[in-house]
Amino acid sequence: MSDVLLHVDEIEVRYGAIKALKGISFEVREGEVVALLGANGAGKTTTQQTVSGMLRPSLGQIVYEGRRIDGIPAHELINLGICHVPEGRRVFPRMTVHENLEMGAFRFKRPDPKLFAHVLELFPRLEERIKQQAGTLSGGEQQMLAIGRALMGKPRLLLLDEPSMGLAPLIVKQIFDIVREVNAEGVTVLIVEQNAAQALGLADRGYVLETGEIVLTGTGRELLADDRVRAAYLGEE
Ligand code: ATP
Repeated sequence: MSDVLLHVDEIEVRYGAIKALKGISFEVREGEVVALLGANGAGKTTTQQTVSGMLRPSLGQIVYEGRRIDGIPAHELINLGICHVPEGRRVFPRMTVHENLEMGAFRFKRPDPKLFAHVLELFPRLEERIKQQAGTLSGGEQQMLAIGRALMGKPRLLLLDEPSMGLAPLIVKQIFDIVREVNAEGVTVLIVEQNAAQALGLADRGYVLETGEIVLTGTGRELLADDRVRAAYLGEE
């Protein structure tokens, strides 16, 4: 059994009076891909944003590499190797592809040229468009750029929020293939997805969220075969 890299323990997160997470717990082990699934509004993005330091839990704790990190802001967590690819990608639209990738390495004195070359190898499409303004890229290219930018920060834990959102199936497949490759290179991944079939095909384990609570957990294969998951998230009877 590999070591636990991230342990989320009974966290509650509120938006004013609304309790978006009602005390959820899960763990991510070193080297795993873990998927968080659930319908709209279940709390997936809230969970991801809490792990990445954008939100603070009102109760509970988050432990990463054996130290407590809840309450530490996102820009400091990047220094611990927690890199977040937010929902909706959020590339810097007026900067070029090249400049966006360099921004991902801001925690270092200068971007690592070997890593830069490797990211372009993973995403040849970005290399072709290296001087293009990021805001003019297609949705799929922007997603690739957002992931590439996060990789430039040398993540130990990569947080991906709905990487498939709004993208054509072929692009989704390419992106998931690259996530698989990045994971094989040693990066641990926590992925939030509405696209349960794709995410569970990739994930070692998954957790299903429903209105701020975890209602189901299992290996990717177990969840894919689970009748409740099939009915609710794979559109089957
Ligand atoms: P989706 O797949 O639609 O993005 P999700 O599972 O990621 O959904 P969250 O975005 O985490 O869900 O939202 C969880 C709950 O918290 C929802 O009821 C949502 O309306 C509420 N919520 C999210 N952000 C805010 C906010 N800034 N202010 C108030 N309520 C919020």
